[in-house]
Amino acid sequence: MKKLSNYINGDFSSPINNKYIENYSPTNGCVYSLIPDSDEKDVDMAISAAKKSFESWGKSTKEYRYQWMMKLADAIDKNAEELVMAESFDNGKPEWLARAVDIPRCSANIRFFATAILHFDSDSHDMDGGALNYTLKQPIGVAGCISPWNLPLYLLTWKIAPALAAGNTVVAKPSEITPYTAYLFSKICHDIDFPPGVINIVHGYGDTAGDAVVKKCDIISFTGGTETGKIIAINAASQFKKYSLELGGKNPMVIFEDCDFDLAVETAIKAAFLNQGQICLCGSRIFIEDSIYPKFRAAFLKQTKCLRVGDPKNKSSNLGAIVSKQHLENILDKINIAEKDGGKIIIGGKRVFLDGDLADGYYMLPTVIENTKNTDEINQREVFGPVATILPFRDEKEVVKMCNEVKYGLSASIFCNNISKAHRMAASIDAGVVWINTWLLRDLRIPFGGMKHSGVGREGGEHSLDFFTETKNVCVKIENGGNK
Ligand code: NAD
Repeated sequence: MKKLSNYINGDFSSPINNKYIENYSPTNGCVYSLIPDSDEKDVDMAISAAKKSFESWGKSTKEYRYQWMMKLADAIDKNAEELVMAESFDNGKPEWLARAVDIPRCSANIRFFATAILHFDSDSHDMDGGALNYTLKQPIGVAGCISPWNLPLYLLTWKIAPALAAGNTVVAKPSEITPYTAYLFSKICHDIDFPPGVINIVHGYGDTAGDAVVKKCDIISFTGGTETGKIIAINAASQFKKYSLELGGKNPMVIFEDCDFDLAVETAIKAAFLNQGQICLCGSRIFIEDSIYPKFRAAFLKQTKCLRVGDPKNKSSNLGAIVSKQHLENILDKINIAEKDGGKIIIGGKRVFLDGDLADGYYMLPTVIENTKNTDEINQREVFGPVATILPFRDEKEVVKMCNEVKYGLSASIFCNNISKAHRMAASIDAGVVWINTWLLRDLRIPFGGMKHSGVGREGGEHSLDFFTETKNVCVKIENGGNK
């Protein structure tokens, strides 16, 4: 059985306690590797390596960091196919999806921030009477980067890249549920002789290794569930650390009668079921204007029925496996609760058993539920699976209320061809990201993040670089200044 290692100070190391966690592939339900069950002591080692390397990396030129990061991005591209297969096997997602989205985004994240740092500038404020303020943006130290299992290497590199570009060193803690591509990433860093100690990867559980990362690193970037975010916020805030939290969502798709109908149906399908519905931005509450509800319902069901759940290796599989047995059971429990609350499952709602080697994998049918109230648990709590509810609405005022009566505020999509209505809706919905006539269209420069219980802070472009730097104002009094 393959034993993964931590990557500390440019070398591979076993956990000090010699304890390991079994790593399952959701595609077949089998344990196929062991990952370090690291604790505080391993994190201490990683932090001390990161602190030491910060002395040079933190003072290095932007050009130097750019060069190293570009080398890393190129090496990821060279190993892309291995990463694609590993991501799919470890997470359950279809290989075509990892090939089209996850892995290309890893090198893109790194290139994006490698080049962004070359253009990152700061302000100066000229004062009347002869003084000049200028702003320094300085790296902070050791950045703790903690990521979830749904887009494993994509989200890990989305944090590591800006942290490094800004001059910090990193201790990263990938999800214990999908550790494999982070391990391959550490091998890539090792193969290209990336400066030792600048990137360190410690595997393990959240409440041990993750907790130590939060308590001991200088700045924390976290993506994961809202409940975990709360714990991290408490721990980081009590030490007055900067933290950024990208958390859960319960995102509305709003379909008005004047929309481009085919586009709305096709996009709603994608938003509900891509990556088995395990994307924080998935549109899980679909609000449909009542005049087109029957037509939309019929078209949505017809297309959902055509989706194939199957072997993640097959190009024809629209959905692969759910990430773990426990998560599959959680999703099915939430569907049961929806039924008990009066919801009607109009399609799906069940586990699927594939044949042969995949018979023990964690597969389920895409599920659509109607007859629910917006206040029902199924519409209030994140399911994070291939489950969508469809609900009719009367008018703009009612649907804004429905969009906003949840604790989350991550994203929303509006389908409508009335420009004024679309802008009014965008301004009224509680969400950090609003799409009009599209979904998941991402520009890496935009401020990305959630409001309410969906997060604190924004990632992307200069927002990430701002986060990973300390802003310092320097005020210079100019003797006899102010006059020409
Ligand atoms: P999770 O919160 O269970 O775990 C995320 C990471 O945090 C893991 O690496 C875990 O080990 C670690 N962790 C757990 N407890 C910790 C603790 N006490 N201290 C430090 N670290 C700890 O989340 P998950 O189940 O892996 O991911 C699913 C969630 O992530 C969903 O809610 C989803 O919406 C959210 N998510 C949000 C975004 C976003 O950008 N807003 C993106 C992807 C996923």
